[in-house]
Amino acid sequence: MALVNLDQVHKYYGDLHVLKGIDLKINKGEVVSVIGRSGSGKSTLLRCMNGLEQYQEGGIVVDGKEVTTEDIQVRQLAMSVGMIFQNFNLFPHMTVGENIMLAPTIVLKKPKYEAERIARAMLEKVGLGEKFDSYPEKLSGGQQQRVAIARALAMNPKVLLCDEITSALDPELVGEVLKVLEQLAKEGMTLILVTHEMNFARDVGNRVVFMHQGKVWEEGDSNTLLSNPQTDELKQFIGAVL
Ligand code: ADP
Ligand code: MG
Repeated sequence: MALVNLDQVHKYYGDLHVLKGIDLKINKGEVVSVIGRSGSGKSTLLRCMNGLEQYQEGGIVVDGKEVTTEDIQVRQLAMSVGMIFQNFNLFPHMTVGENIMLAPTIVLKKPKYEAERIARAMLEKVGLGEKFDSYPEKLSGGQQQRVAIARALAMNPKVLLCDEITSALDPELVGEVLKVLEQLAKEGMTLILVTHEMNFARDVGNRVVFMHQGKVWEEGDSNTLLSNPQTDELKQFIGAVL
């Protein structure tokens, strides 16, 4: 069975039909880029996979567990699915170390020394070992986003969802964040990323999923799909972003 399985998922916001029967299977170790115009449902798709949004029809199973928004399920899910957002979402009143230790301590009930050991190891991994006691505001955007990645990794997730995590960064800071993602991909982490970084999608990603009007309009091997789009919609989209 695939690590992530979506079966005919429909999502509505009131009367607005946002996801219109999404089928998607993602295997362990795959790097999948989700692309598409603003409003096509990319963020909603990720939020449904993470239990942050309810869906009304169909099913989502991650690592053998059905995804629902019920409280206990969401907590369990937090152990399988990590998510990183465009605006970092670090707690400003906590140090970098405290930010990373929070969920392992509260959700996984790790003792403090163990949470600290994990936090330091994850910070090393993203190249910020010396920032443990810094406050987020003292860091650059790229560094903050790398802390957010370390925080997600501290929960030892099976899959990492990234929603436009480089879109808010100054151009010169994008590379350091993509480099961390590339390293994770090499280590076998399963990554699902909403991104506008077509070079990354092509060079690091295995597969591209093009969303249009709430549907998976086209998907396939990243090289093939980006160099040889089949639908007019994807041709237009690629023309607009490249
Ligand atoms: P994308 O990430 O591809 O830009 P979204 O998933 O954010 O798309 O949005 C898909 C559609 O759902 C859009 O029409 C958007 O306006 C709508 N939408 C997103 N979030 C909400 C919400 N919380 N309430 C109502 N409508 C929403
Ligand atoms: Mg979005």
